[in-house]
Amino acid sequence: MTTTQVRATCPHDCPDTCALLVTVEDGVATAVKGDPDHPTTAGVLCTKVARYTERTYHEDRLLHPLRRVGKKGEGKFERISWDEALDTIATRLQAIAARAPEAILPYSYCGTMGLVQGESMSSRFFNQIGASLLDRTICATAGATGYKYTIGASIGIDLEQFQNAKLILIWGGNPIASNLHFWTRAQEAKRNGAKLIAIDPYRSLTAEKCHQHIALLPGTDAALALGLMHVLIAEDLLDHDYIAQHTLGFEQLKQRAAEWTPERTAETCGISVAEVVDLARLYGGMARAGEPVAIRANYGVQRVRGGGMSVRSIACLPALVGAWRHAAGGIQLSSSGSFPTNKAALQRPDLLKSQPRTINMTTIGDDLLRATSPQFGPEVEAVIVYNANPLAIAPDSGKVMAGFAREDLFTVVLEHFQTDTVDYADIVLPATTQLEHVDTHTAYGHLYMMANNAAIAPMGEAKANTEIFRLLAARMGFDDPCFQDSDDQLAAMAFNAQDVRAVNFDWEALKQKGWQKLNVPDAPFAHGGFPTPSGKCEFYSAAMAADGLDPLPAYLPPYESVASNPELAKRYPLAMISPPARNFLNSTFVNVKSLRSAEGEPHLDIHPADSAARGIADGDMVRIFNDRGSFIAKARVTDKARAGLVVGLSVWWKKLGRDGKNANEVTSQQLTDMGRAPTFYDTLVQVERVAA
Ligand code: SF4
Repeated sequence: MTTTQVRATCPHDCPDTCALLVTVEDGVATAVKGDPDHPTTAGVLCTKVARYTERTYHEDRLLHPLRRVGKKGEGKFERISWDEALDTIATRLQAIAARAPEAILPYSYCGTMGLVQGESMSSRFFNQIGASLLDRTICATAGATGYKYTIGASIGIDLEQFQNAKLILIWGGNPIASNLHFWTRAQEAKRNGAKLIAIDPYRSLTAEKCHQHIALLPGTDAALALGLMHVLIAEDLLDHDYIAQHTLGFEQLKQRAAEWTPERTAETCGISVAEVVDLARLYGGMARAGEPVAIRANYGVQRVRGGGMSVRSIACLPALVGAWRHAAGGIQLSSSGSFPTNKAALQRPDLLKSQPRTINMTTIGDDLLRATSPQFGPEVEAVIVYNANPLAIAPDSGKVMAGFAREDLFTVVLEHFQTDTVDYADIVLPATTQLEHVDTHTAYGHLYMMANNAAIAPMGEAKANTEIFRLLAARMGFDDPCFQDSDDQLAAMAFNAQDVRAVNFDWEALKQKGWQKLNVPDAPFAHGGFPTPSGKCEFYSAAMAADGLDPLPAYLPPYESVASNPELAKRYPLAMISPPARNFLNSTFVNVKSLRSAEGEPHLDIHPADSAARGIADGDMVRIFNDRGSFIAKARVTDKARAGLVVGLSVWWKKLGRDGKNANEVTSQQLTDMGRAPTFYDTLVQVERVAA
C-alpha cells in the first residue's frame, strides 16, 4: 500500500481557512486533519471538515452529467455524456449571446473560496460572452463598505495577536460555530486574565461562555457604538494624541455622539443604561491604562438596513481610545484587504467588449421574474450556477423559487450534490471537491497565502470548474490563449509577486510548503497610515458625503422592528434572525447525515414569555410567517432568545425541512444602506402552533 500526505486547504466560507493534511492510501483519501505546524490551524479542524472524507465519498455525490426529465423542481434527471451536456449548453448560450448576451447570468458565491475554482476561468468565460455581471453581495459587502469608508481597507488585528488582548468584544458573531481558531485564541486570552464580552441579540454558544453578554435588539449596533462614544467623550476616556495625529473629523463626531445619551442608547438597544455606561468605562478605562483592547466584529451586525453604518460606527471606537497602538488592540472584521491578490490577471475584465449591466445576487428573486424593459435590459434567459445554492440561501425564497421554476429559463448547475437548486436545473454538471483539484487561497481571518494540492483523482466523471469552463469556451469558439491556461498557471498568477506583502510569491514553492505568511506589520495602524483618502481613520468621510450618505457614524433603524414599523409589528410582532447552525456552513454539509443528525431538525428558539402568549410548549411544531411566506420548525422554548426575538439556526436545505421550506421564506430582498447587501436579520414575523 502506498500512503502519502497531501497539503491542502479548507475551501469553505469561514475566516479560518485551515491548512489540511490529507492522508491518501492507494489513491483513496482516508483522513483529513489540521496541519499541526500551521500557526493558526494548529492541528485542529471543526467537526464539519474533520468529516470531509464522508462528504467527498458520500453516496449521493453527483458523478455524471444529467439532463432534466421531470418538471422544474421535481429533481428528476437522466444521465447524459459530457459531450452531450457541453454541446447542449454551448448551443443554447451561443443562440442567446448572439441576440442578447446580458440575458445570460452567472450566479456564484463562496461554495469554494479558492481563487482558481472560484472566479478565474469562469469570469473569463462570462466576460468573453459579455454576460451580465453579478454583484456578489450576499454576505459581506455592507460591512466591508462601512469599514472601508472608516479604516480604508479590510485590514485589522492579526488573528495571532488576540491571545494578548486584555478585553475582547465579540460583536455580532458566534465564533465557536464559525470562527473556531479565533475562539481558541480568545480562550487563551481569558486564561491570561482577559475579559470576554459578547454583544449579540442571541445567547449563542459563544455568548454563554463569555464573562458578559449584552443582548441588544437586532439592528441597533450602531446606536450602541454611538452611545459608547458618548460616554468615552463625556468622561474623557480618549487618546487625544492618537485622535489628533491619526483621525479625521473628531469635532463633528463629538457633536454626533452628544446626541446619544446612555438613556437614549439603552432605550434604542433594549438594554440597561448601566450596560452602556459600564462597557464604555471598561473599554476606555483599560485602553487608558495601556491594556490592549480588541474588537472581533462579525457579519451578524450588518445583515440589517443600517448594516454598513453599524460596522462603520463600531470601527471608529479603537481610534478614539488609541487601541491601534497595540498589536493586540484595534478591530478585526476581515483580513482580506491585506492580500495582494491579482484578480485582473485571473478574471481578465479586459475581455469585456463593453460594460454589461450588473445584477445583484441578493435580488435574484425579483430579477428572474422581470420582463425585458429599458430600465432592466433583457429578461434573464439563462443562469449558470456554480459554487452556490440560491434556492436555499437567497432571501425571499418564494420568489427565488418562482424565478427558477420558469419553464423558459435555461438553468445549468455545477454541483457536488443534488441541492435544492439542482432540482431546478436543465443540465447538471458534476464538480470536483477540494480533494480532487488544485487551488490557492487567501483568508479573511488570518494572513497566510495557502495552497491546495489535488489529493485524489476526480470522483466518477466529475470535473473541476475551470475545466468545465475551458471546455465550454472551446465549444463556443473562444480562441484567446487565456482559455488554455492550466490550473497551475492560474494559481501562479493569483498573487502579485512584486508586492512586498507577497514575499516573492512563487507557486511551486507554496505548493510544496502549503502556506506562506504575508509580510505585513503586527500593529498595522500603530502609527496611523490608514489606507483612506486622508491617510487617517475617518470619523468624517467626504467619500460618504459624495456618495450621498451621512458622512458621520449614524444609527439607521431597521426596516422591520417594533419601534421603526409599529403598523407592521401589529401583525408580525417578533423579530427573527437566522444565524449559522454549528454543524452547517451556509447550506453546505446539510446533507451529511452525521452533521444533520447533530442538528436534529429545523428549530425555532423562542422566549418563554412569547411562547406562553401563543400557547406554544417546548417541542411543539410552529409556523413562522409574514407577508412573504412561512416555514415550519420545532419550537425550543428558551431564554437564549431575548423576549421579542425568535431565532431559526440556518441554512437548512428546503427539501430536508418539515414542509419543504426554510427560514428564507420570510426574509426580504430589501438592501442595506451601503454595499447593496441583504437584510436577513431585519425581519418581523408571527409564530403560531400547528399540528405535528
Ligand atoms: S470550516 Fe473553518 S474551521 Fe472548519 S476546517 Fe474549514 S476553515 Fe477550518
